[in-house]
Amino acid sequence: MATNHDNFMPPPQIDQLQLPLVTPASGDDLHHCDECNADLVHPLDWSRVGTDAWAVELRCPNCWAHTYGVFTQEEVDRLEEALDQDEDAIVDEMLALEAARIEDEVAAFSSALALNAVLPEDF
Ligand SMILES: [Zn+2]
Repeated sequence: MATNHDNFMPPPQIDQLQLPLVTPASGDDLHHCDECNADLVHPLDWSRVGTDAWAVELRCPNCWAHTYGVFTQEEVDRLEEALDQDEDAIVDEMLALEAARIEDEVAAFSSALALNAVLPEDF
């Protein structure tokens, strides 16, 4: 008896694909999406090709554009640098939000203390 699982073909692994050599239209910026112009493209999968190239599956989280290609070590290094800068920006923003949240909490607690609105049974 045939089941749906009998016809299941797993997706090809990136190192099994016949990948074209791709030069991004935006130059050598793999982080830039040519479909929506967002600088948010990130790798989903990668594998080394030869000694100085990488097969990389890229995706834009803004428009879901997908790209496969073989890129030089230098191009991949620049992408990694851009991703590191994005990570730093996210961490900086998270720390600023947390600091603002704590400031708001301290201000609210100070106001409550000034109004004698904090009672022992609140703890
Ligand atoms: Zn995009």
